[in-house]
Amino acid sequence: MSTMDKLVSLCKRRGFLFQSSEIYGGLNGFWDYGPLGVELKRNVKEAWWRDMVSGHDELSAPLGAPTPYEMTGLDCTIIMHPQVWKCSGHYDLFHDFMVDCRESKKRYRHDQVRGRWVTAKGQRIFVATEQAGDEGLAETQQRALKFFNLRAKDVEQLAWEGELVSLTTVEDHARILGPDAKELGTLTPPREFNLMFKTYVGALSGEEGAAFLRPETAQGIFVNFKNVLDSSRVKIPFGIAQMGKSFRNEITPRNFTFRSREFEQMEIEFFCHPVASAEWYRYWRDRRFRWYTDLGLAGERLRLREHEASELSHYSCGTADIEYAFPFLPPGEFGELEGIAHRGDFDLRSHMEGKLVRQGGELVVEQGPDGKPRHRGSGKDLSYFDEESRERFVPHVIEPSAGADRGTLAFLCEAYREDEAPDENGKLQSRVVLKLHPRLAPIKCAVFPLVKKDGMPEIAQRIYRDLKKNFNVFYDEKGAVGRRYRRQDEAGTPYCITVDSQTLTDGTVTFRDRDTLEQWRVKADDCVPELSARIR
Ligand code: ATP
Repeated sequence: MSTMDKLVSLCKRRGFLFQSSEIYGGLNGFWDYGPLGVELKRNVKEAWWRDMVSGHDELSAPLGAPTPYEMTGLDCTIIMHPQVWKCSGHYDLFHDFMVDCRESKKRYRHDQVRGRWVTAKGQRIFVATEQAGDEGLAETQQRALKFFNLRAKDVEQLAWEGELVSLTTVEDHARILGPDAKELGTLTPPREFNLMFKTYVGALSGEEGAAFLRPETAQGIFVNFKNVLDSSRVKIPFGIAQMGKSFRNEITPRNFTFRSREFEQMEIEFFCHPVASAEWYRYWRDRRFRWYTDLGLAGERLRLREHEASELSHYSCGTADIEYAFPFLPPGEFGELEGIAHRGDFDLRSHMEGKLVRQGGELVVEQGPDGKPRHRGSGKDLSYFDEESRERFVPHVIEPSAGADRGTLAFLCEAYREDEAPDENGKLQSRVVLKLHPRLAPIKCAVFPLVKKDGMPEIAQRIYRDLKKNFNVFYDEKGAVGRRYRRQDEAGTPYCITVDSQTLTDGTVTFRDRDTLEQWRVKADDCVPELSARIR
């Protein structure tokens, strides 16, 4: 079993993640967090909110920041005025291309299919696959042999042209052998597919009542920019943070929760003076990268990738992705955890003036065939007046946009280890352990009486109740203590406390560390300060 398969099975067995509506056969692209998963994901979100918003010190400039800055939060609705998505560009531009296979009835995202050109028996075809790397090479070879009716020993008869390339490079659809097809030319030409889920508000079922589930939380921040300015005393530079559900009708949801159709985002829109924006961009890129390393994604599997100029959106002066080498990806490939984008004044201006397009280096309001704005803005003034410099300007925006589910999945992947730990008799046994950062661990500490007698349960229960006031702790008196330790290791619990016979004579208990397996004695009355000092 691959590491990923083992992790997926652990997640189900121990209640981190379940497929949505599983008893009805599941719903592709939707996932539920179980009893341990909900704690883990809440801890990820709380760590983000605390580190970015509620715990932010507004009085001094943090490491790398050009000046001190303010942070504030927001929680807005999932369904917003449809005009929001017209001005943001999501209505016209937020789509992927999909291709359908007439033979297998499967649907693929055009840019996710790849393949190789091959010639045999005088015929040149493109063998498509969903696999990458060596698996893709092996699969295309297998399927080419089958298509040309050749045996494995005739493999030299296949004349390949180079490596795997994207399906998007292929124009002649008649020559494509689809990823699940036996015949040529069964894939349809690529068709656009808007990723926003559509719904209807109120009793109107026609287009008048049409609305969308938000595909990102960011726009809710932009449309509330003026409300926040007018209702609080924030001054530029400042950030507004929001976390919550977003929805995208992904064509091919895959890789566990990595690409889901319903997911949670944690986004900041940071508003600053245009002149200082490049410096703030660099600050946020580095600050967000450090957040992941501080919480345990410290190895080579995490990287910061600065986009090439050609990859940048039409309004952006700089974008970087924080990426993680998820175990389900081929070696050398990384998946995006978070994007940090310099968005200039694109968003605020779009919501003032109407949907913008770039024309000769300038952003101008896109016009419809009648010469009027294609999508009208709010007409509200979203500029900022700086009292000190007496200057009025439209702020520039830096956007660190993270996915709570992708982050949670990366923390789980990084934490999963198999190693050895001694059992009751001192014999080494293999164990599965989630080495989660104590701040993220669903359960912070488990409390055990060694045996269910001699007053041990009573002492353990008292410790449990004291700890429970501050931490999510777990009480367990069932089974051999070694088995109880191992169940906690699998759940990622960083500490265990055991009440044993020595407790009855000197009033101390055993503390055990999940990672080092070190054990030490602490006074039963000092369990709260001992744990507090270790869970930071
Ligand atoms: P991708 O290219 O992987 O589809 P994206 O570039 O479209 O992602 P953004 O629009 O920048 O993603 O969204 C910001 C963040 O939201 C991503 O970095 C990711 O963590 C999260 N996210 C986006 N789409 C999904 C999804 N389908 N499932 C889970 N998380 C997602």
